[in-house]
Amino acid sequence: MRTFDDNFAEIHSTDLTDGCPRRVQLRWEGKLLPHAPTALVRGMLAGSACELLHENYLHKTDCHAWEEERVISLIEEVVSAGWSDTQTSLSDDGRIITDSVEKNIESIKSEVAKVLCAYVKHLGPLFVQTKLIGCETPCRLDLEHDGSSFSFASHTDLIVRDVANVFGYGKGRVLIIDWKWRMEAPTKAYLSRNMQFAMYWLMGLRGKFKIADWSGFTSIADCENPQMVWLHLPYLKPYSRKTIAKDKDGNQVAYKKGDIRPTTSILRAVNFLPENEERVAKALVNRVEMYKAGFFPAIPEPVRCANCEAESFCPRYDTASIHGDKNE
Ligand code: SF4
Repeated sequence: MRTFDDNFAEIHSTDLTDGCPRRVQLRWEGKLLPHAPTALVRGMLAGSACELLHENYLHKTDCHAWEEERVISLIEEVVSAGWSDTQTSLSDDGRIITDSVEKNIESIKSEVAKVLCAYVKHLGPLFVQTKLIGCETPCRLDLEHDGSSFSFASHTDLIVRDVANVFGYGKGRVLIIDWKWRMEAPTKAYLSRNMQFAMYWLMGLRGKFKIADWSGFTSIADCENPQMVWLHLPYLKPYSRKTIAKDKDGNQVAYKKGDIRPTTSILRAVNFLPENEERVAKALVNRVEMYKAGFFPAIPEPVRCANCEAESFCPRYDTASIHGDKNE
């Protein structure tokens, strides 16, 4: 049986990037309600379906140029297969979908399908010109600091090489892309300090990736400075009202209701600078040292606490008894 200290053998990115260290502690102690709410299920479903799209279609065919009906049928296929994969993953993790998910699963699938149709239509013409390196790629990073070793592990959603510079970050550049389904799009100030992205970037520079089962963990070739990209999936939905926004060239444009957002709004890039490599490594190590010292501060935040699977176990200051005392 896994003990609390086993978690230090290989720190996962989710343990570093959780906005509340107390939740990490409670997760390591096994104190989480095993529910799978809508946000989690929708994100997993979208991720599984995107993975199937990239592995089977987007880099092999011009499926973005297919007739609408054929694209819709393709998306139905990947969403259905993605839902099977999601159910398997949830079951493997011992998670149970909530009543709300059970009731609304068809509308969740339909929402994901609409976004993925837009994904194929608007990003497909770009991705078909790139070389797929991997989806859901396991990755590892080992760091040495003050005579101690630290190991980190994660999975990156999507890695491609932009051989024709269609995304504009540089010809031949490796792009490490994370599919995100969040309410809020990230700001530059947030992304520039995002530990998950910084970890993936450092992994691209110094870490190892399992690109194929037969290959084992190896470095990515010609990956001097990978480009990190947050792909904000909900922004593939068209504007719901007239909006003034900057286009990809930085010009102010008036978009109408129903227009698709500019690609630069959907793809949020962050340029980590090579001179900050050591600073990133130290930030990762510092977080682990904080945990090793037993310091897991609670950082309450209105939305996060309301949706927190550990909330029932997290000490509070208004009642003595907390177990099972879930805030509504
Ligand atoms: S309830 Fe809030 S403070 Fe407590 S672990 Fe969850 S997110 Fe952190």
